[in-house]
Amino acid sequence: MTETARYTVDEEKALKAAVLAGEPATCPRCEVRMTHRPIGGGSFGLGYHRQREWLLCPSCRRSAIFDVKRGTRL
Ligand SMILES: [Zn+2]
Repeated sequence: MTETARYTVDEEKALKAAVLAGEPATCPRCEVRMTHRPIGGGSFGLGYHRQREWLLCPSCRRSAIFDVKRGTRL
């Protein structure tokens, strides 16, 4: 396995659904709480009305980045 391993599409979908529902992000593989890092708009050219959430599993080191609309309660 490499450190750039990704989740499957289904796993990412489930993760995103949980996050958008206000639930804590949990790695679908390790069942551990994931590190949650908001990536602010601006420096990535996304504008201030958009924001990205970067979820990183400290166990398997998989990560997923979601676009979330600002105003969506996380
Ligand atoms: Zn994991």
